[in-house]
Amino acid sequence: MLACLGLSVVVSLAACAERMEESSVPDVPELPLQTPLQAGQAPVVPLETSLHVGADVASLAGALAQAAIHADVRISYGAVQDGVGAAELIAYLEADSSPPETGDEYGMPADTILEIPLLRFRSEPPTVYVADGTPPALVDETVRVVQAINAALPRKWQLTFGPDPAPAGALQPADGQIHVRFAPQEDWPTHAVPPHGDDIGLAEPVIAAVPTGDPAVPVQFEYVAGRVLVDHTRTSGLERLGVIAHELIHLLGRNHVDPARFPETIMVGGGSEELTGHILHPLDREALLAAYGHFQPGTTRSGIAEDLGAWADTSLHVRGALDTEGGEIAFGAALRNGLSQPWATGPTPGTAIEDNTALSGSVSWSGRLIGLTPGAEAVAGAADLSVDLASMLGTAVFTGLEQWAADSAPGALGTGTVWNDGDLRYVIEVRGNTFVQTGGDAGTVTGAFLGPAHEGMGGVLRRDDLSAGFGGIR
Ligand SMILES: [Zn+2]
Repeated sequence: MLACLGLSVVVSLAACAERMEESSVPDVPELPLQTPLQAGQAPVVPLETSLHVGADVASLAGALAQAAIHADVRISYGAVQDGVGAAELIAYLEADSSPPETGDEYGMPADTILEIPLLRFRSEPPTVYVADGTPPALVDETVRVVQAINAALPRKWQLTFGPDPAPAGALQPADGQIHVRFAPQEDWPTHAVPPHGDDIGLAEPVIAAVPTGDPAVPVQFEYVAGRVLVDHTRTSGLERLGVIAHELIHLLGRNHVDPARFPETIMVGGGSEELTGHILHPLDREALLAAYGHFQPGTTRSGIAEDLGAWADTSLHVRGALDTEGGEIAFGAALRNGLSQPWATGPTPGTAIEDNTALSGSVSWSGRLIGLTPGAEAVAGAADLSVDLASMLGTAVFTGLEQWAADSAPGALGTGTVWNDGDLRYVIEVRGNTFVQTGGDAGTVTGAFLGPAHEGMGGVLRRDDLSAGFGGIR
């Protein structure tokens, strides 16, 4: 394993290689291959017996108090201590950042103390490109990783995905670009092949040194582009998703930490244990939110605690739940440290929806939506999904949207005030057992059919002004 991304490495071309442990993904019917067009959608995660849409932030039913019943849907609300907390996050980011160095290494007077800012990608979110010729299954994995990372990032820092692949032989990605290439290690550029023969991933940032005018921090290093190499022949399944995510997060500025001290992050050399379908661990997600939602460029190791400010370990949750023969469908949103994340979950269907012979023509599901605004106002309304099984097109319509005061539980139906103009309408396209918006109001809608015979549906709506989960039954 390379020791990676010390500053002396950073000023040349930093590179970091990984080995990881084996793991597997459950076999789920008809989860469609993700393409660059879906990079802005929420992740749809196959778990052992359920499909999960959105971030890994679901609250358990028992953790919250029931607040209301909205058309047979149990609505609950409350605060849950479910974050890693300020002390652990600060310890992690301090371990990740570089200690101050003396100026003589850089041709400055030896008594100059250089404070090294926490590394970030420059000013705007990068665009990820796969190399020309990347097989669809590996494009799918890269898009899934981008979706998982985006679920943890603020809206203004969402990574985008290039619609066209990057030329396979591109020497250096242009500013703002991250190129991901899958190739057996024998085919990696010679400078990139690490000293260990069995490393399977590599991240090479392109670094800019920006003068600041501040004598304590005379230059600031930023990542302006980067390249990821993954030897896809030596890894598979969840492990390979973890390798791709690990390398992309290197290019977002994070380094390796000691696996004995921080076992629950994918940013340990050699790979973390206990990988789940959600790919990122809570600590990885909170570090992304801190770096891109709370810090400004220039935060140094000694300033991490101050710049982080108040960092909550408690989330505000809203949750809706309804029962089907196959089990509970649940959905909602969680708000912590300024990020409101929606989720939905329910039983995995037994077949692809187009193979369900009991369904034909136009099929409708109805239920409810429940979510949170960035200002902690609960929003609820009706959720109706309609699909024409011949064209696999349809609509997702949210009506009667009402809100309650910030930091208060949603009340009985009709007791809130109208949210915005009261409804949101989206045109949707069915992809396997999932659906995504193709038009309509602002925002993204990502959902899945749920239950053994597609009795239910659930999904998430993500907008600047609202994050909500929804669910319903036929
Ligand atoms: Zn690494």
